[in-house]
Amino acid sequence: MHLIDENATLAAGQQLASALPARLTIFLCGDLGAGKTTLTRGLLRGLGYTGKVKSPTYTLVEPYKDSRIVVYHFDFYRFTNAEEFLEAGLEEYFEGNGIRLVEWPDRAQPYLQAADLEVRLQVSASGGRDLELRALNREGQTCLERFVA
Ligand code: ADP
Ligand code: MG
Repeated sequence: MHLIDENATLAAGQQLASALPARLTIFLCGDLGAGKTTLTRGLLRGLGYTGKVKSPTYTLVEPYKDSRIVVYHFDFYRFTNAEEFLEAGLEEYFEGNGIRLVEWPDRAQPYLQAADLEVRLQVSASGGRDLELRALNREGQTCLERFVA
C-alpha cells in the first residue's frame, strides 16, 4: 500500500485501529523516519485518544490507558544490548490484554515474544511511504483481513 503523505500514514493507522482485537502485538519495522510513530499516532486517534502521542525513544514505553483499548507503545532504538529489555522490567507489559506496538523490536531480541502482526514502512522514491502488513499467526491474519475489508 502506498502512503502518499503523512495524512495517509495517519489514516492507515486509524484503519488498523478499527481492525484490532483485544490483544495483539505489532512489530513496527523500518528505518528512522519511516513513519512508525506516525502510524501509531493514527492508530491511537482511531481508538479515540485525542492527546499528544510522543515518541517513546527516551522513555522506552508510553502507555495509553485512556484510549478505548489499553495501548503500549515501545521504542528500543536506544538499546545498546538486548538485556536492557529485562533490566527495565518490560516483560510484564507483554502479558494480558492490550495492544503492543514495538519500534525496533530486533534490538530487544531474543527477549521479546513473537508478534502477531508485522508492519513494514519504507520511504519510497516519490518521498511517500510504502506500507506492508504481514500476519505471523491466526490472530494477525484475522486483523489483517479486517484491515483490508
Ligand atoms: P519513525 O517513527 O519511523 O522514525 P516518524 O513517524 O517519526 O518515523 O516519521 C518521520 C517523518 O515522516 C515525520 O515528519 C512524518 O510526518 C513523516 N511521514 C510519515 N508518513 C509519511 C508519508 N506517507 N509521506 C511522507 N512523509 C511521511
Ligand atoms: Mg519513531
